[in-house]
Amino acid sequence: MTESAVDRRLSREHARELDDRNPLAPFHDRFYRRPGVIYLDGNSLGLLSRDAEASVRAALDSWRERGIDGWLHADPPWFTLGEQLGARLAPLVGAEPASVVVTGTTTVNLHNLVAGFYEPTDGRRGIIATALDFPSDLYALQSQIALRGGDPDRDLRIVTSRDGRTVAEDDLIAAMTDDVALALLPSVLYRSGQLLDLARLTAAAHERGIVIGFDCAHSAGVIPHRFDAWGVDFAFWCTYKYLNAGPGAVGALYVNPRHAGRRPGLAGWWGYQKERQFDMRSDWEGAAGAGAWQISTLPILAAAPLLGSLDLMHEAGIDRLRAVSLDLTDYLIDQIERAGLAAPPYSYRIGTPRPHDQRGGHVAVEHEAGPRIARALKTRGIIPDFRPPDVVRLAPVPLYTSYEDLWRTVQALRAIIDAGEHTRGDAGRDVVA
Ligand SMILES: *Cc1c(COP(=O)(O)O)cnc(C)c1O
Repeated sequence: MTESAVDRRLSREHARELDDRNPLAPFHDRFYRRPGVIYLDGNSLGLLSRDAEASVRAALDSWRERGIDGWLHADPPWFTLGEQLGARLAPLVGAEPASVVVTGTTTVNLHNLVAGFYEPTDGRRGIIATALDFPSDLYALQSQIALRGGDPDRDLRIVTSRDGRTVAEDDLIAAMTDDVALALLPSVLYRSGQLLDLARLTAAAHERGIVIGFDCAHSAGVIPHRFDAWGVDFAFWCTYKYLNAGPGAVGALYVNPRHAGRRPGLAGWWGYQKERQFDMRSDWEGAAGAGAWQISTLPILAAAPLLGSLDLMHEAGIDRLRAVSLDLTDYLIDQIERAGLAAPPYSYRIGTPRPHDQRGGHVAVEHEAGPRIARALKTRGIIPDFRPPDVVRLAPVPLYTSYEDLWRTVQALRAIIDAGEHTRGDAGRDVVA
């Protein structure tokens, strides 16, 4: 074959040209990327940026210099940091500033919101979820139903998947019968990366008198939302994935302004009206806005990284992040197919929907030898993760992944099969996969 007959789009030079044109390339060096390592697991734990590191150092400085006075006199004051960070997050999800607060953790926020929004009556007790949900959400919903005297087997309506990867919106809407009180759905499915149409599902739920909330762990920071405009009742997400705030960083939640005054399911003093919180009264007066849904003292050191990280996200712009993210996942899918890796003997399958309006931020690459392939990638300095039964998740993060990184990843996917590495070694997965 002559040189010109080779598809140029498969070349490393082509990847480098795309990097030269990438408007987010200048952000790559704001992150600690280990030399020689390609990190494709930012949908599970985002990397540390210099910006986030600096804001943690500033919080430590305030603690060292001010002690207790940091609550009012740190910059910014710790006492209202949850509200401040919420206001900074709000534009990323299309909310007014007071509708978002940084507090708690994903599953705890789910518990609090469902406890506050689930109002079972004799005729309406159902909660809709999906068979492809992140398991923690299902465990939490089962326990919420039991707490309210219901029967999880009867009241949790788990909508199944037709293909094992995705959930049909028509099936979700068909499950919205008049005995359903609440729907709790993911924005993006954690395994296949399918993005649901939140506007459509919200409208359908409301037409049927059903309250609807979304787990946005896999979309916050990589996909813009318009919660206020869509009328979403509530949402919650973590900040350690695409928001790069660090392992176990504080979560976030959204409550639609029309629910101002609704009582949280699990009230605590941190949700009290801020000006009077230290009056220490025994009757609870919730703050206006999402702030009321805070329970406990904000873990300042686990919230501080978000200050630097959000500055960086706003500089990049959520619409640009989404555009580059889609282009990177398009490129990765296209390379796998163009290079022949979707056919035998390679037989990688793409489990992520192709249409942009159904695609989240990562690409699910399916293979029978998934755990071995994930391990072989790691050995080569490429960090994916693995989700059973057969999904290798590859997340090109628009803030720090290059086209050349993806080009190299595709070469590795080919080389692993060529060398037979998928047939050797431990076939099981690691404890944290
Ligand atoms: C990561 C993730 C969570 C994490 O829950 P934690 O309570 O923060 O441990 C929850 N839901 C989804 C969909 C996730 O992807």
